[in-house]
Amino acid sequence: MMIRTRIAPSPTGFAHVGTAYTAIFNYAYARKGKGKLVLRLEDTDVKRKVKGAEEAVYAGLSWLGITWDEGPDKGGKFGPYRQSERLEIYKKKADALVRSGDAFEDEGAIRFKNSGSDMEWTDKVRGKISFPGGEVRDFVIMKSDGYPTYNFAVVVDDIEMKITHVIRGEEHISNTPRQLALYKAFGVQPPEFAHLPTLRNAEHKKLSKRGDAVDLGAFRKEGYLPEALVNFLCLLGWSHPDEKEVFGLDEFIKHLSLDRIKKAGPIFDIKKLDWLNGIYIRNKDNKDLAHLVNEHVTNDVSGTSVEEVAPLIKDRVNKLSEANDLLEFFWSAPQVGKELFGDESPRHLASAARVLGEIKNWNLGQVNKKFAGEIKKKKFKTGDFYMSLRIALSGKKITPPINESIVILGQDKVLHRLEEAQKALLEMQPAD
Ligand code: GLU
Repeated sequence: MMIRTRIAPSPTGFAHVGTAYTAIFNYAYARKGKGKLVLRLEDTDVKRKVKGAEEAVYAGLSWLGITWDEGPDKGGKFGPYRQSERLEIYKKKADALVRSGDAFEDEGAIRFKNSGSDMEWTDKVRGKISFPGGEVRDFVIMKSDGYPTYNFAVVVDDIEMKITHVIRGEEHISNTPRQLALYKAFGVQPPEFAHLPTLRNAEHKKLSKRGDAVDLGAFRKEGYLPEALVNFLCLLGWSHPDEKEVFGLDEFIKHLSLDRIKKAGPIFDIKKLDWLNGIYIRNKDNKDLAHLVNEHVTNDVSGTSVEEVAPLIKDRVNKLSEANDLLEFFWSAPQVGKELFGDESPRHLASAARVLGEIKNWNLGQVNKKFAGEIKKKKFKTGDFYMSLRIALSGKKITPPINESIVILGQDKVLHRLEEAQKALLEMQPAD
């Protein structure tokens, strides 16, 4: 049997992280079985349709490295893949159910006549699930405006598109009995069902558009790496057989089995995502990192290349959005807040300016040596000395490694900034 999975997003806004979560599992399951992933747009809710939402779904999933084999943008044997373009098909199928006596017309709509038998299936994640007969009443399958209802369209499409595994959110468990009733009426063997646990926020509530970060585009803007977000989403729904926490899609595909999917609602813990993201940042080679950092630098970067300075923050950031704050002093002179300095700062800056001015051959070895000698001679507290330098050169107490930064800034710029900071400190002295 050729495995065929699908994702069926409704294009009602931005690309939702829940769509990505479902997509990752369907993608991996199809790839593992050397099958196909179908992308179908459930766009029959005309009122909720938003312009650009379809493109946002494509962009969000592509960013994460999820590819599909058939879809509105790709075509395929079983299209069209937008439900709004399949209205004729639904009409035909509904008419067939009317003819067979399984449905009837009701004030312009078509209603499915439910047999009332018990419904049961073995969910790949949750095991046996049953709904007593009588739970499912007669229900509308075609509305009077000619549009199908969700439960009807999904079954018609999953049959036509030869879907073998329906992997989707647990909020659809309660829809499954109606869908099974339709499969029975059509005389078609239903697909396997696997219901993924719903992602929850710190308050254990379903992630919501209002209070929670759910827009894939926003994650990207924040400086999360797609690999980190994918890894994080995998961990939310599944556990690695070796308890590993850091792994890529390839490894997920290799080890995925539906029975290792979690049942309880996982908590979307941003701190954990930040931690993972930091790991992926540190694993980047410098060139790739520079590329990524470049997307997040808002400063005008003339003079010093991003490539030169990006490696300095590799160990210091968990999100790329933190990069600009740490690096901007390379490109623009800081506003030095005098109040940040300590009592010893005037002496620190005078010493630093003098020894740096003596250097003939500007390099890290020289800078390290000069500072070490001066700290010893003047009995400075090492931490305080460097803090004075950080503030004078960047205006901040947190910087990339300061000696490396000094070398990149260059002798002229450094001496000039030290001078400016000393002036600022002098102005602060009380007049006598
Ligand atoms: N459009 C539905 C959703 O976004 C798809 C449901 C399904 O996979 O059957 O939840």
